[in-house]
Amino acid sequence: MTPGRPVPPPLAHAVTPADDHDLEIARDPASRSARTGLLAAAYGAVSSDSGLVPLTLARRAPKEDDVEIAIEFCGLCHSDVHATRGEWGAQSYPLVPGHEIVGRVSRVGSAVDDFAPGDLVGVGCMVDSCRECESCLEGLEQYCENGMTGTYGAKDARNAGSVTQGGYSSSVVVDRRYVVRVPESLDPAAVAPLLCAGVTTFSPLRRFDVEDGDVVGVVGLGGLGHMAVKLAKAMGARVVVFTTSESKVPAALELGADEVVLSRDEDAMAAADRSIDVIIDTVAAPHNLNPFFRTLRRDGALFQLGLPSEAMPPVNPGALIRRRISYAGSLIGGIAETQEMLDFCAEHGVAADIEVVRADQLNEAYDRMVAGDVKYRFVLDTSTLQAPAEEADA
Ligand SMILES: [Zn+2]
Ligand SMILES: [Zn+2]
Repeated sequence: MTPGRPVPPPLAHAVTPADDHDLEIARDPASRSARTGLLAAAYGAVSSDSGLVPLTLARRAPKEDDVEIAIEFCGLCHSDVHATRGEWGAQSYPLVPGHEIVGRVSRVGSAVDDFAPGDLVGVGCMVDSCRECESCLEGLEQYCENGMTGTYGAKDARNAGSVTQGGYSSSVVVDRRYVVRVPESLDPAAVAPLLCAGVTTFSPLRRFDVEDGDVVGVVGLGGLGHMAVKLAKAMGARVVVFTTSESKVPAALELGADEVVLSRDEDAMAAADRSIDVIIDTVAAPHNLNPFFRTLRRDGALFQLGLPSEAMPPVNPGALIRRRISYAGSLIGGIAETQEMLDFCAEHGVAADIEVVRADQLNEAYDRMVAGDVKYRFVLDTSTLQAPAEEADA
């Protein structure tokens, strides 16, 4: 150890890959044999309070249906912060987060004919599901009745129960069924957040059949909210943003909102009575929904996308009954719908507003995300990751 050099924290559970003779460092991809897995550079947490540190992952060699992806960009989602800090319950470490992945195919398995090396592709919040239940068969894999396999921190049943590791990494290997095609016309860094924030807001807008002339309300103007504004505008809707802070009014208008209502201003909320068809509520903190129901027209709907960790104030059933209003939830989108969303974004020139960060800025970016200091999504440039070590940490 060189004196004065920062000492990386010890790994909580260093894992040696079962067949490490099958692994080599990715310095010379051309020299790799077909059945060799990659050692990938990564950033992840080794405990709930470690912050993010450099790690090396052993990625599996592509099986017959697998696509190996050289990751270029990965968006930073608020879920990543909760997961790496163990705020959503016990977590296995090391944990490399990241489920807004964009990169180029580097190798494919023998049964893959829909992707080829060089293709620009994306991976979102899931990398597998049971493929047999009613939801999976309907292309709604996110609602898999046997539980979808998350892109990170999930037990991967089809890969010996290993724990999935996400996109803050130089490469990833994913079954072709869970890989989507990224249109070349969009900025790949700004596409990354579409894979979670984009499809999470696109899916309920589509479910409600938002079209020309509809009025869409958006509650909260963070990563999800800013995508909801852009997508609803692209669908032809008139967009009303609800925010608690006056400071966000110019930003909302700049994103394309037609109107901004300060939700703490009772007169402004009363003036919005019966003016909206569907509300996309992106706020994850507990908040009172009843004032928002009063802004909906008959047969309107409110989709809640944020999952508060504490109880919400009670919903007033009368507010729903008197206007036949639906109070609904929605979780990301299926694989086919994710592809549809990307194609829609290419057609309409929609992408996220982003700030690209280096790997050594990830911890600072997390603190800024928690403070709400980002417009509107951080994206990691994976070319700034360190070279992988000679041995894998996980
Ligand atoms: Zn996410
Ligand atoms: Zn299923």
